Amino acid sequence: MGINVKIEPRKATDRGGYACMPLKKNIPQGRPDWELTSCPICGRECWRQPLIERALSQGALALCTECAIRKGITGK
Ligand SMILES: [Zn+2]
Repeated sequence: MGINVKIEPRKATDRGGYACMPLKKNIPQGRPDWELTSCPICGRECWRQPLIERALSQGALALCTECAIRKGITGK
């Protein structure tokens, strides 16, 4: 019994974890449904995409892609 802790990479849909936001410097024009925001760690401008809203509602922290990589997200 007890708590079963699984150590494995988090998916965007997992509770907690991190959600990636593309940096504005990489995608300057963004897309109409993207919201310009800033990374809470490095403060650079990045895009908040609708697809990460679900992860955020589950407690994920939205980071720019570079900070997310430093946090251990390999992404695609
Ligand atoms: Zn960042």
